[in-house]
Amino acid sequence: MPQEIRAWGTTAKDRPLGPLTIARRDPGPRDVAIEIEHCGVCHSDIHQARDEWGGSLYPMVPGHEIVGRVTALGSEVRRFSIGQRVGVGCIVASCRHCGPCDMGLEQHCDAGAALTYNGTEMDRKTPTFGGYSRHVVVDEHFVLRVAESLDPAAAAPLLCAGITTYAPLRDHGVTKGHRVGVVGLGGLGHMGVKLARSLGAEVVVLSTSTTKEADARRLGAHDFVVTKDPAAMKRARGLDLVLDTVSATHDYAPYLALLRPRGTMVLVGAPTAPAPLHAFSLIGGNKRLAGSMIGGMAQTQEMLDHCAAHGIVSDIERIAIDQINDAYERVLRSDVRYRFVIDMASLA
Ligand code: NAP
Ligand code: ZN
Ligand code: ZN
Repeated sequence: MPQEIRAWGTTAKDRPLGPLTIARRDPGPRDVAIEIEHCGVCHSDIHQARDEWGGSLYPMVPGHEIVGRVTALGSEVRRFSIGQRVGVGCIVASCRHCGPCDMGLEQHCDAGAALTYNGTEMDRKTPTFGGYSRHVVVDEHFVLRVAESLDPAAAAPLLCAGITTYAPLRDHGVTKGHRVGVVGLGGLGHMGVKLARSLGAEVVVLSTSTTKEADARRLGAHDFVVTKDPAAMKRARGLDLVLDTVSATHDYAPYLALLRPRGTMVLVGAPTAPAPLHAFSLIGGNKRLAGSMIGGMAQTQEMLDHCAAHGIVSDIERIAIDQINDAYERVLRSDVRYRFVIDMASLA
């Protein structure tokens, strides 16, 4: 018998979020049932709740930065125990046998990974609902171990903002001596600063906000550049890697110009509209423009273990679920320091 669960979500792109009731399946043999303690608020929640990328499914319960405790286990689950602190990120299923799945890139599954919300299970019929709810049931392969040493609320954003910035830093070999530029100091950007620093890089924050310099330096940045200031932009030249986390459509050329020859700019920010790009922005300096989408399960666990070893969590502002609509507006004004996290006990 599926369980009726209370949640918050929306029924249309132009409606505010409010209370909803959803169904969760009983745990199958390989499932883990989780009581959700905290859920981070990602800018992707806003893009999707408002159908800014197109194709949104309603009713929608957003939330893919989930941390909670295990409450029940399927008969075949061996990797988890009752009461253990765990996390769930952006995907909850994939085919498990295609090329990308075999390579640990479940997020790029040939069959299409099941998104944690605004998607369907692999049967392509059953809708998925996210973490703005009290409970979730997930196949153990898509459940992560979260160290007890980390504050659980501040660890929640690691499940999306953390892995989305960790993966490109690791995949592009960022290490000691590299200079990394992080564009946009929001939820993803502030994790990018902490993680690049923890890998030994020299970090430059490139921001439209004049008010974030002290925060950037406190988070670990060596330099802070207001992107409207041409002299400061000149100072940032010679970067090995640029990590672009900006949520709004913008020109990539000024950031490509900061790369050293053969340097790479990685897009993780996912604006709604395309941006034109002149070939010469890449030709001069043999530069590379790349993208990156969250991370596979093994790399996500590696990131969580790295964060536990280095004591890295997100800088958060805790909210109750009934503050979520206001929180969305503040994210849109770049007025978040640096991730909202919902205390899901407020839904009880
Ligand atoms: P966020 O907290 O809102 O941060 C975005 C930052 O971008 C802002 O803090 C701001 O930083 C900067 N910004 C905003 N509007 C701008 C504009 N018009 N021009 C220049 N800079 C601007 O959002 P987030 O949660 O970090 O997410 C960022 C983006 O990544 C979103 O598009 C989200 O959907 C996407 N995302 C992608 C993945 C992936 O797998 N690739 C995963 C998660 C999220 P400053 O004030 O410093 O300028
Ligand atoms: Zn996200
Ligand atoms: Zn697959």
